[in-house]
Amino acid sequence: MQLLKNYIQEHGTVLTDGVLKVDAFLNHAVDPKLMTEIGREFARRFSQEPITKIITLESSGIAPALMTSIELGCDFVFARKRKSLTMTDRLYSSQVYSFTKQQYSEISISKDFITASDHVLIIDDFLANGQAALGLIDIVHQAGASVAGIGIVIEKSFQSGRNKLIEKGYRVESLARIASLEKQKVAFVQEKTI
Ligand code: 5GP
Repeated sequence: MQLLKNYIQEHGTVLTDGVLKVDAFLNHAVDPKLMTEIGREFARRFSQEPITKIITLESSGIAPALMTSIELGCDFVFARKRKSLTMTDRLYSSQVYSFTKQQYSEISISKDFITASDHVLIIDDFLANGQAALGLIDIVHQAGASVAGIGIVIEKSFQSGRNKLIEKGYRVESLARIASLEKQKVAFVQEKTI
């Protein structure tokens, strides 16, 4: 998605060879025009799937997932990273190792908001080693629901997440695929435009 690549080049900062900072439009400030286009693009790519629900992980997945759910006209729920006082015992939970925080956390979705009849699109802001996506897939399976695919805003293709998910048979659609962050430069994977 060319617009997203332009935003990454103009507003992204390479922190290390493995970490990209995009606080200016995705992880802190959120650009509504870009999020609208991201929602349209995910909806276009998954339009053939009978999706009933989109799930993501708080907090940075919420904006792109919400925009996609508006475009697809389906339900939307985000997994919580911290249990709130109002979330009692009816939960599906999974342990996820956080790439950025370098620690495990438990993610949860209430049993009220995902059921066996759901066909679920998983959306997240970044794909690194695939831990967040695998945790969300685990929750979908605990509910007896099916996975339509995984939509990623920014994939770091030099890390292992994409291959892990594809080897397990999941469809992965990433709107920007980064081949390298070396020498403080963002290099994209060369792809045919679709
Ligand atoms: P994974 O679970 O695939 O290893 O990592 C994905 C999660 O880690 C995303 O939900 C995202 O929050 C965070 N993450 C991974 N790599 C980056 C990065 O380079 N920059 C930012 N801002 N977040 C990242």
